[in-house]
Amino acid sequence: MARKTGPVCRMCRREGMKLFLKGTRCDTPKCAIERRDSPPGMQSSRRGKPTDYGIHLREKQKVKNYYGVLERQFRKYFQMAQRTRGDTGEALMTLLERRLDNIVCRLGFGPSRSQARQLICHGHVTVNGGRVDIPSYLIRPGDVIRVKSRPKSLQAVQTNLAEPGHEVPEFLSLVAGEAPEGHIVRLPEAGDVSIPVQTQLIVELCSK
Ligand code: SF4
Repeated sequence: MARKTGPVCRMCRREGMKLFLKGTRCDTPKCAIERRDSPPGMQSSRRGKPTDYGIHLREKQKVKNYYGVLERQFRKYFQMAQRTRGDTGEALMTLLERRLDNIVCRLGFGPSRSQARQLICHGHVTVNGGRVDIPSYLIRPGDVIRVKSRPKSLQAVQTNLAEPGHEVPEFLSLVAGEAPEGHIVRLPEAGDVSIPVQTQLIVELCSK
């Protein structure tokens, strides 16, 4: 599974906003953007006004980095979104929100998408009773996400769920307890997306 490596806080500083890529650290004063809210790079302060293309590109990169997907996969999602009826931008965001790593993170099983991805790849998560170790697996309404009943799996998730300040979105429902499980109530909609995004800019860029 290809993934982006390297310093993740740079991505937030590049976009000028928190992308919450480091889990609990993002809500502490240690967050890099809290300490240094400027783009990375030595000459960052001398850069001029962004071009029209630059504005479109940054919007796409922001979404890619937030969900942790690479260019080829993002293009695949965009093509799938184009084939669906209705607003392409909205369909694209719905597809990204349906990824299993995003769902595991939004349920609070993992503090960030990358850590949720690790839980999935290491076989700690099941969907409808079957082991799924593919982070890009797209969930459907009615699916039930559980943590394997092994002490190691449960302990990892219980610790994350105990973190304060986590809110489960409306399209999910969480049954906490000794064996926590998440239910997919409905498909995510535009209002459920947890990041401010101008989807029109992405559609304009990717349609060229
Ligand atoms: Fe972004 Fe989190 Fe790093 Fe802050 S701590 S800059 S929110 S990844």
